[in-house]
Amino acid sequence: MDSRIQKIIKILDKLFPNPKAPLHFSTSFELLIATILSAQCTDERVNKVTPALFAAANTPEKIIKLGEQNLIKYIKSTGFYRAKARSIMGAAKMLVEDFNGRVPGTLEELQKLPGVGRKTASVVLIHAFGIPAFPVDRHVLRVANRLALAHAKTPDDTDEQLRKAIPEKLWIRSHLQLVFHGRGLCRPKPKCEICPLLPYCPEGKKHVK
Ligand code: SF4
Repeated sequence: MDSRIQKIIKILDKLFPNPKAPLHFSTSFELLIATILSAQCTDERVNKVTPALFAAANTPEKIIKLGEQNLIKYIKSTGFYRAKARSIMGAAKMLVEDFNGRVPGTLEELQKLPGVGRKTASVVLIHAFGIPAFPVDRHVLRVANRLALAHAKTPDDTDEQLRKAIPEKLWIRSHLQLVFHGRGLCRPKPKCEICPLLPYCPEGKKHVK
């Protein structure tokens, strides 16, 4: 890891010493559902709807029994609810039919599930199984590229470059820190003038003369 990246990691550790998964869940299937629901929605909103949903149905079999129309009643406020309901129902059916009702623990298998792309699969891997991965959402995409930890336009390319730039044992922690920094100072309109990362950030230096 080059010394500039080491300094960035040190500052992120000071800013976010104890980063925790923002979505509430108690099983890998609950996390899978919460992550599907979090697309185009805040984690806070997802955490508001999931307690009632999980009390009604928190296994693939129970989701199938609940049915798509009833599922929609629980998840409507997260937006794009028809597509999300279809993905959750499809994932539940595939889990029952192909995976003995269990959430698989590999990126390849997770990505076979309807509505599950690389980012969602990576979130499930790191938080449900503790397996290192580097989920790239819009915050990580923005912050990592501003900090020149990656030079990429797509989440998948950013993911690949981050995994090369940062040691594997730091992936889970660094992912969360970049998410939280993207929700804080490094929003689309960044507050570079008060950001501790400014001395090591090429994009920040363009903003602050
Ligand atoms: Fe983001 Fe600005 Fe901080 Fe760079 S200096 S990480 S662009 S807020």
